Amino acid sequence: MEADFPTWEPGIRRDYPPLRGERQADVLIVGGGLTGATCSALLTAQGARVVLLEAHLLGMGDSFACTGKVTGQLAGVYTTVARTVGMDAASAYARLMREAVLGVRALCDSFRLPCQPREQDVYVFAETEDDLPALQNLSALEAKLGFPAAPAPDAGGCPFPVELSLRMPNQLTLSPLPYLLGLIEAAERQGCEVYEHSPVRAIDGRRAITPGGSVEAAWIVLATGSPIGCTALPRLAMMQQRACAAVVLQGGAPLHASHLSVQPDELTLRPIPGGALLAWDMGRAGTRQHEARQTVLERTLKALLPEYRVQERILRQDVWSGDGLPLIGSIRPEASHLLMATGYSGWGVANAYLAARIITGQIMGRPLPEASLFRPDRRYPSHAGVMLREGANVAGGYLSGLLRPGAPVCTHMSGRLRYNLDAGRWECPCHGSTFTVLGETLAGPAMENAKVSAHQRQ
Ligand SMILES: Cc1cc2nc3c(=O)[nH]c(=O)nc-3n(C[C@H](O)[C@H](O)[C@H](O)COP(=O)(O)OP(=O)(O)OC[C@H]3O[C@@H](n4cnc5c(N)ncnc54)[C@H](O)[C@@H]3O)c2cc1C
Repeated sequence: MEADFPTWEPGIRRDYPPLRGERQADVLIVGGGLTGATCSALLTAQGARVVLLEAHLLGMGDSFACTGKVTGQLAGVYTTVARTVGMDAASAYARLMREAVLGVRALCDSFRLPCQPREQDVYVFAETEDDLPALQNLSALEAKLGFPAAPAPDAGGCPFPVELSLRMPNQLTLSPLPYLLGLIEAAERQGCEVYEHSPVRAIDGRRAITPGGSVEAAWIVLATGSPIGCTALPRLAMMQQRACAAVVLQGGAPLHASHLSVQPDELTLRPIPGGALLAWDMGRAGTRQHEARQTVLERTLKALLPEYRVQERILRQDVWSGDGLPLIGSIRPEASHLLMATGYSGWGVANAYLAARIITGQIMGRPLPEASLFRPDRRYPSHAGVMLREGANVAGGYLSGLLRPGAPVCTHMSGRLRYNLDAGRWECPCHGSTFTVLGETLAGPAMENAKVSAHQRQ
């Protein structure tokens, strides 16, 4: 069984009880990851009565794998936004991300969170000559967006040879789990009720129902990664759950900065005591891309980081959006009390802050002027959904997801599940829902447990 804390940031957890009986609140937050934690802290600080329901343990979803790099300079994400939505949107998003990094820092300081925030330079590198045009385009775009990024002759002490690195000064690193748990404790001190082991199995109007009880609230925030229960096809087509691994490395030369590949699906590296923390895109959840990406990861570790020893691997997912902008706000105009926040494309700490800011503004009647950019029901450029499918192995994705005989069926839209041996869980290739070996829901959009027969468990 997985431990409650990653080995690189051991800690002690508090236990929270499961929900029993009926509760009422101004705001119900479903999901205790970075989004749920940041929303509870900002909403309670504004005086809202908040209940937080977590299906399992706080922070054990995708946030458990977060490697804690907090930056407004989202490398390739702005390139996608500029291409799909336009330069104005990219500029507005860049400004909000800059403010989000400052906001995260202010939360750390004002709540005295035990998450060791540190200012640190980030170096974005081109590993080979083939990557140089991408780095050049990035540097031009970042300059237009007002981010200083200068070529770094020493590549910031990158532990392997690179063609060229750009230095992006004054970014932040922190320990994500202590940050998240600290935010929830701060919210609790201001009256937030917190329940673990309380999966929401149905939402009926303003009431969310769990096995032990229910919560009625004026607003319901789905902070569940992919929004549970969502079956709206345009929205689902704009989201893709991509598997991503955090690899804890020990030994090797000490790092004094973070390093990101200019290629969005390649490695990122940050320093931790005694070693480094690597993040690696494993391809679209539930597909055969996993095996291929695993092989490249092993090769990369041997070739580029031979002095480091692998201590732990943590596999999770993150939700990418087709146009690069997160999806934050009311799910549908006719049910405006039901809000969602997801699609962070690998950058959850700063985006969760932005989501909490937008959601708090909407609920408190002081909407952020730029909020409409992120509306989940926005009109998507026709090519944006197609971009998500680029590089996805269709034969190993949607089609085999529907056709694979004998596999358990996803309770969201009946995709056939694939068992991921490395992660030890069932994954749906259609929309990324995941289930334990016994079929218990881990991540949405599925809400109900899947039926896994005895022979399928073997
Ligand atoms: C390997 C890796 C490295 C990363 N590194 C970084 C990084 O360096 N910097 C950065 O900014 N971001 C990083 N990210 C991205 C970041 O971790 C995610 O964007 C972020 O954690 C998403 O948070 P969330 O709260 O939306 O989702 P989650 O953390 O998944 O939280 C959702 C919660 O909802 C709960 N839930 C689901 N269904 C229900 C239900 N029915 N009822 C009740 N609860 C439910 C789940 O149990 C879960 O706890 C990384 C991601 C990965 C995978």
